Amino acid sequence: MGRGEWRYGARTIRRWGWGVQVTFWGTRGSIAKAGPTTVRYGGNTSCVSVRTEAGTLLVLDCGTGIHELGQVLSHDEGPVNGHLLIGHTHWDHIQGLPFFAPMFQPGNVWHVYGPRGLDTSIDKALEGQMQYTYFPVQLLDFGATIEYHDLVEGQFEVDDVTVTTRYLHHPALTIGYRIEGDGATLVYSTDHEPSTAPEPGPEGLEALNREEAHHVAFLRDADLVIHDAQYLAEEYPAKVGWGHSPVEYAVDVACAADAQRLALFHHDPTRTDDAVDALVDRARARAREFGFTGEVFAAAEGATVTLTSTGTVEARPAVETARRTPALAELSRAVLIAVTDSEADAALHEAARSEGFDTLPCGDFDDVLHVARTQQPPIVVLEAAADRSLDELADDARGIVESYPEGATVAYVTTTTPPANEIRPEITDWLVWPASQSHLRTKLRAWLLRRACRWQSAALPVDESERMIALWNLGILDTEPEARFDRYTEVARSAFDVPIALVTFVDTDRQWFKSHPGLPVSETPRDESMCAHAILGTDVFVVSDALRDDRFADNPHVARGARLRFYAGVPLTLSDGHRVGTLCIMDHRPRVLDDEQVERLRDLGRMVEAELQSSADEPPDV
Ligand SMILES: [Zn+2]
Ligand SMILES: [Zn+2]
Repeated sequence: MGRGEWRYGARTIRRWGWGVQVTFWGTRGSIAKAGPTTVRYGGNTSCVSVRTEAGTLLVLDCGTGIHELGQVLSHDEGPVNGHLLIGHTHWDHIQGLPFFAPMFQPGNVWHVYGPRGLDTSIDKALEGQMQYTYFPVQLLDFGATIEYHDLVEGQFEVDDVTVTTRYLHHPALTIGYRIEGDGATLVYSTDHEPSTAPEPGPEGLEALNREEAHHVAFLRDADLVIHDAQYLAEEYPAKVGWGHSPVEYAVDVACAADAQRLALFHHDPTRTDDAVDALVDRARARAREFGFTGEVFAAAEGATVTLTSTGTVEARPAVETARRTPALAELSRAVLIAVTDSEADAALHEAARSEGFDTLPCGDFDDVLHVARTQQPPIVVLEAAADRSLDELADDARGIVESYPEGATVAYVTTTTPPANEIRPEITDWLVWPASQSHLRTKLRAWLLRRACRWQSAALPVDESERMIALWNLGILDTEPEARFDRYTEVARSAFDVPIALVTFVDTDRQWFKSHPGLPVSETPRDESMCAHAILGTDVFVVSDALRDDRFADNPHVARGARLRFYAGVPLTLSDGHRVGTLCIMDHRPRVLDDEQVERLRDLGRMVEAELQSSADEPPDV
């Protein structure tokens, strides 16, 4: 058998050279389940291989399925090199590693990636399962050259592939992988559950909260989404907090993200082949109900999916953030917990102690502000009192965040569903009580690690599809500069004494500048855009010093390039309520705007909106 073919069972299942080849070697969740009831979908635990046209080999997770992959690869001539991306270190995702033949072959080179724990690195975590008590061969006995990489949320490059990482919702710190290469995109999102109980029916999609909006953005436009679908909706209530999804939710997020194909994955060990068939029928019916035109199927061991580029995709170099080992020693591990519910309070304190956090004592909200100002704990957990509106909660959070030179993580504990359709940048996260210890610990850990990775792309607005239609209907994208917009940016430049002022529009994957004095480019990628953050709110969005703000410190326009420090943008809202872009000002120096200046920026924004509205009222030239 020559290079370029893999034989699996009796059939040749793949060649490379035409698109990205994705092969399932293990599809089962929790525990391997061999036997007559799992013949068609397979009994091995999580393992998926990805091969690009150039031959780059990525392996996602090393459950028991990796054994067969190792056998097949060992028939290859020459060294077998690759990249093993581990989502988390629960048994069903790592148990096959000691049986993966290429690891024992001298001359092979393997890079192993996994989530950085707070107190342990990925190799230490893997070493644990290979201690003498459990296994006769030690991690150090691997003959191949192995390099370990601890990952946080961010992005990195592997040969011809760009990998983006995101923390999933699971009782252990778990990373989802978005893999882009050869113009195709695959998202591996397993061991994940909804951040709140999903609402059944299409309304569920309307009610995406901030975390779900981020999750959908992570899946956005993928050619293939491999998603956790361990449960059925009626099974899920008894399994909340176990870290797995009902199949209905997997369909909902794939629909919302406009994915091309959805592979249902992490099959429950009790699910027989026939039961998986029924689960697929159910998923397809739901997809049809939502008008989802993509393909829905259950991942089956041995199956290969070929992803071919659907169009010309501009390759962009990855921004290396995911491999930046956070300087954890320098991060203060203090948390301020101000929650009146005694059970929630006790549980949070216990979780914080288990994760090695110092907890700061405090009383009422004035006391919280005082402790925040004087001791600056990086994480503040507050209670979302039922009698306070979202605006009031956001104001409270802003009061805290603004007392920090480098910003703070402010999370609210709530006993109800977090507010949908509204994303407030001051509020980092919502914690739905009651919650398990493992859930609380994972949240605390993710908040701390996210602080170490100081660059966030913005979530998608909840009205994204309608917003895009409204923007396109303006017919303004890629038009020539016009004096009627330039005059506002020039006024803004002189009024605020800043070098850059822009009228920008946030398009599908870019922000485009209608007017851009002071900036020599006419568009930038959306995931680097500060305006994409600004349009999530209704009012002026100010970043006083981007270098001291965890959301932007490592943003390419801040850390390099234009070296921006200050940003203030007012969203441009159309009469139908969609926020399509901003009028914004930027500076290379940190700045603070007083109330009068904020009001002036608002006024200028309204004038630009009036200009836009006048173009919207005329039918665009066709
Ligand atoms: Zn699992
Ligand atoms: Zn797990």
